Amino acid sequence: MKTLSRENFVYQMDSSNKPQIYVNDGDILKVETSDCFNGQISKEGDILTNTDFESFNPATGPIYVEGAKVGDILKVHVLEININDYGVISVMPDFGVTGEYHREEKTKIIPIIKNKAVFNDKISLDVEPMIGVIGTAPANKSIMTVVPDNHGGNMDCKRITADSAVFLPVNVEGGLLSIGDLHAVMGDGEVCGCGVEIKGDVTIRVEVLKNKSLPLPLVATKESIMTISSKETLDEASKQATINMYSFLVNELKLSNEEASMLLSVAGDLKVCQIVNPLKTARFEIRKSVLSHYDYKL
Ligand code: CA
Ligand code: CA
Repeated sequence: MKTLSRENFVYQMDSSNKPQIYVNDGDILKVETSDCFNGQISKEGDILTNTDFESFNPATGPIYVEGAKVGDILKVHVLEININDYGVISVMPDFGVTGEYHREEKTKIIPIIKNKAVFNDKISLDVEPMIGVIGTAPANKSIMTVVPDNHGGNMDCKRITADSAVFLPVNVEGGLLSIGDLHAVMGDGEVCGCGVEIKGDVTIRVEVLKNKSLPLPLVATKESIMTISSKETLDEASKQATINMYSFLVNELKLSNEEASMLLSVAGDLKVCQIVNPLKTARFEIRKSVLSHYDYKL
């Protein structure tokens, strides 16, 4: 199995980035990632003010997938996520949903012990390692790795865990996939601006889908299918994520317009991925079990 070192990273998803590795359709690859602070915060005394913001959100890549042509879909199977033995959370005044109430900068080191994230002496959380940043290069612009958009990017969707698949657009030859910003665990919303930020590695298998049209980005887990949208406001992102799932039901499953809307309303879940990034991200989930009698293939 090939490994891409975390030393090979980008801050922009950009068609002009030089590929750091070439893989074939179907290949398995291990991708090492730095945490979103690029390792600048590693003890309680480290605070955000003393860090270089410019080096936040490194994404390992880009990965060039042979045979991926413009208009194809890149299906990234997430096979495994390994995380370091500690993660970090950092807050500062006036950042995050409750930032106005912060009186000081604060960093918390979160030991990871026996698959638990030790938040404090009373609270330990089961780890649910997830990928915050995963995206391909956009067509005619450069997008910072901190920004989520139609190419994926900093979506901070907590469903992107091991055993999930992420469907992304191929906007340029090879796709130019990059991955970073792992979290040991994160709540929907990521309201203080951080999950349990952590370095680690991700094992993926890449697959190129030809002649397929899906509303992207899309994520499939064992239990659910979900459409994701990032927009200036959560209202807009919520609407687009919902419309994307509607399109999936109408175009892929051939439900009528009205029936699709009804099903979304009674069996779908509109959720918040994050509300702290430059664009806000919503997702619309529907359980696979609801659709089990339909003939569709992702
Ligand atoms: Ca993030
Ligand atoms: Ca993060």
